[in-house]
Amino acid sequence: MAQKRDYYEVLGVQKNSSADEIKSAYRKLALKWHPDRWVNGTDAEKKEAEERFKEAAEAYSVLSDPDKKARYDQYGFAGDQMGGGGGFDFGGFDLNDILRNVFGGSFNFGGGGGFSDFFGGGSSQSGTRVFRGRDIRTSVKLTLEEIASGCEKEVTIERNRPCQECGGKGTKNSSDIKTCPTCHGQGQVRQAMRGLFGMTSYTISTCPQCGGTGKVVSNPCRRCGGTGLERRRETVKVRIPAGVEEGMQITVPREGHAGQQGGVNGDLLVVVHEVPHAELKRDGNNLFYTQIISMPDAVLGCEITIPTLSGPVRQKLEPGTQSGTVLRLRGRGLPAVQGYGRGTGDLYVKILVWMPHKLSRSEKDALEAMRSSSTFTPAPSRDDNAIFEKEKNIF
Ligand SMILES: [Zn+2]
Ligand SMILES: [Zn+2]
Repeated sequence: MAQKRDYYEVLGVQKNSSADEIKSAYRKLALKWHPDRWVNGTDAEKKEAEERFKEAAEAYSVLSDPDKKARYDQYGFAGDQMGGGGGFDFGGFDLNDILRNVFGGSFNFGGGGGFSDFFGGGSSQSGTRVFRGRDIRTSVKLTLEEIASGCEKEVTIERNRPCQECGGKGTKNSSDIKTCPTCHGQGQVRQAMRGLFGMTSYTISTCPQCGGTGKVVSNPCRRCGGTGLERRRETVKVRIPAGVEEGMQITVPREGHAGQQGGVNGDLLVVVHEVPHAELKRDGNNLFYTQIISMPDAVLGCEITIPTLSGPVRQKLEPGTQSGTVLRLRGRGLPAVQGYGRGTGDLYVKILVWMPHKLSRSEKDALEAMRSSSTFTPAPSRDDNAIFEKEKNIF
């Protein structure tokens, strides 16, 4: 599967963007990349347009649905693979449904109908501005043992915190804080520009003078240079739930960068990396292990030791164990993440029989005597055949 882009990146929105902002970001992309607009383009352009168009629709299908969005926020794309509860599926969406929902009625590029709708009624920002700090992305390495039981990990990050000198205000005296003359406290500036289809539209960008805060500081704090923030290296404890998988993302709320002017902190996003186990392989919640035994052990029966995540387990093998036999140790796999899967997985043990390459004279004689015995003529039982059939199907 091709590497997917982060849905927020695709739509160019923030995690805390409102439903309207997400919708409007998607509208713009759908307009830009609709295949009808690229009929005269080169093949490469057409292909790109189609891919961008679909990518935006998929991102919107997830971010516009509060449940899917929450799951994506917590687990990233891995949330998609957790199946089970609620028939969750990032990939599956009805494009027509989305377009109808976003554009209301027909999505039609041929005529002029409906366009005013896209540009009209610009959303007005109201209420007091709250600055949210940026998210911080980091990662942890986990062994399968840690994943099996869940654990607590410490991560060390560098993050913005309120300046200790000025308490985050950016200056010692509140009277030194003035409304920004460029944006009049709005934090944003509007610029007129000729938009699509010859209409005049406005781009809104962050105010260059105040950097979006809407305020300027005339006598800035010496420690933080007036930003109100300072960089600190800090260690955060992260609780890792049992059963997580490579690539999953755990969100630790409010442990990211501090927001400006006493705003809310961003989140800390912790991506899981799995340290490969020396003996066990993982597939979803199940584990796989291969044990190689000797020919006499296979014929006479024996006891083997199986490594499990909760310590070694002894297991008896019956006399006449066939090469290719698979044992299943129920519940010795990994647990599902907080109820998203189908319960705890199993540990599968495959038995392979090793044949010696060199024999002594007397060993050779002993085997020669057995060769002619009818006991050694292959006559698989029904159980034996069940094993051999599986092995045969590999071809
Ligand atoms: Zn300004
Ligand atoms: Zn300061």
